[in-house]
Amino acid sequence: MKIKVGFGFDVHQLKEDHPFILGGEKIHHPAGAFGHSDADVLVHAICDALLGAANLEDIGYHFPNTDAKWKGISSLILLEECTKLIKNKGWELGNIDAMLCLEAPKIKPYIPAMKAHIAKASGLEVDDISIKATTNETMGFVGRKEGVVAYAVCLIQKI
Ligand SMILES: [Zn+2]
Repeated sequence: MKIKVGFGFDVHQLKEDHPFILGGEKIHHPAGAFGHSDADVLVHAICDALLGAANLEDIGYHFPNTDAKWKGISSLILLEECTKLIKNKGWELGNIDAMLCLEAPKIKPYIPAMKAHIAKASGLEVDDISIKATTNETMGFVGRKEGVVAYAVCLIQKI
């Protein structure tokens, strides 16, 4: 069986009184991620991991932020599109492992809902999706609550 691995990274600014969507779930917090789509840093990192595994460029190539079509769109739709792109190239998803890095709030209560959204968009089982979170120990732009970072890896296998 042929398998490949992909890696993704994303970062967004945090702004006060801005909606905060992570993994398709609304996070209750005084600040939120700012960006062209819904600024879902977790789903963006996962999309880049999928595309990278199948050697299909990156999220900006397929969904340019200059295209009004993608403005304010749910990033879960982008994840659905990425899943289709890798299927069209003869691959299926194996699993996703992701890491969020932000100072606040605590993400643990939101993780089951995030996994359910990502499972629905990607066609994976919930048990094949791992989402973890850590802080930056108050250091740097993440530590100053100026931004949020996500990393993801995924495995794909030849259909
Ligand atoms: Zn992004």
